[in-house]
Amino acid sequence: MDGTRVPDTAEHTPAARTVIDRGGLDQLVAVLRADGYRVIGPKLDRNAIVLGELDSGDDLPDGWGVTTAPGQYRVHRRDDDAVFGHSSGPQSWKQYLHPPRRPLWSTDQDGTFRPPPDEEVAYAFLGVRGCDLAAIRILRTVLCGGGDGRTAAMYSRLFVVAVDCTEPGGVCFCASMGTGPGAAGDYDLRLTERLGHDGPHYLADSGTDRGATVLARLQHREADRDEVDQAARDVAAAADRMGRRMPDVDLRALLRTARDADVWDEVASRCLTCGNCTMVCPTCFCTTVEDVTDLTGGNAERWQRWASCFEPEFSHLHGGDVRVSGQSRYRQWISHKLGTWHDQFGSSGCVGCGRCIDWCPVGIDITQEAARLAEMFPDVGDYPGEGAK
Ligand code: SF4
Ligand code: SF4
Repeated sequence: MDGTRVPDTAEHTPAARTVIDRGGLDQLVAVLRADGYRVIGPKLDRNAIVLGELDSGDDLPDGWGVTTAPGQYRVHRRDDDAVFGHSSGPQSWKQYLHPPRRPLWSTDQDGTFRPPPDEEVAYAFLGVRGCDLAAIRILRTVLCGGGDGRTAAMYSRLFVVAVDCTEPGGVCFCASMGTGPGAAGDYDLRLTERLGHDGPHYLADSGTDRGATVLARLQHREADRDEVDQAARDVAAAADRMGRRMPDVDLRALLRTARDADVWDEVASRCLTCGNCTMVCPTCFCTTVEDVTDLTGGNAERWQRWASCFEPEFSHLHGGDVRVSGQSRYRQWISHKLGTWHDQFGSSGCVGCGRCIDWCPVGIDITQEAARLAEMFPDVGDYPGEGAK
């Protein structure tokens, strides 16, 4: 995905949807690796579906599903061989595009500054759902819009294999955020998993020329009309099965209205200000810097690491922390995520993946908190339309 996704033009004519089988998925991993990509995708590790490097298609989590609820996440065996039959895990693609720690520069006692080592890695992300596709796009706006050339270079090398979601989890609400369950936007290839008596197979199409080139190298056949229609019905049915939804109100106006109201104590009485929600969120991007020296004191390095707006020192200014209470920190997080993000970056900061609900140790649910505010302030108006929530 090089930021120049080729639409349906003369240069790139997307193939009609084709079908690959489970072996084709193995082939896809092998082809991408042969082309020099580090292929990252879902795999089972320590009782969770995590993202990691795939050495082959055998690493994919065939037949594993997950059960999710506020503060809960469990993997379980499915009664089929679905590879993508699970919703989001504890990690997101953010950890590759915006790593938890990365060096910024180093210097010696002689005062020579050295830039960080070149990161020429080219990632291929395999299994990106609609919500996470939107998150990858939002992160690009945030990080590359600020002039981060290293990240922009990484994005330019990125190859994305998106997957339509046919298995939403109990905490998912992408349909109400307009980001899923179908994968739309910047992808090189898109797959829709379908389960047959002979195992899973995948309707595939390309979104870029290089996606089309990769697809042509896989063993495939043309999809028939019924298969295409049924795949579309599977995705539509996933939207109907979604566990949650964001209320249909103007969230920006709601959060502006609620800002000075006496409503934040209740959620603050439950919130541990642990920051888990910001760590798992695929769009939270805040960082801080740390300077470290080696034991001789002859070498110093500056590192960037993820930070959270739930840390008291995050708002440290002129000798004091500005947001000292849990109320103010939760209000800051949800107001930025659903409200002021629009002013800063032109979209919502939430894509409806549900991770913050899953991985909150006390099960605080962003959709319920928004719904509670909407009930308290019924006069803020309705959702103003697609792309504005
Ligand atoms: S706020 Fe929660 S649901 Fe929204 S994108 Fe972040 S982790 Fe996902
Ligand atoms: S909302 Fe939940 S995950 Fe986020 S800081 Fe509070 S307790 Fe932690």
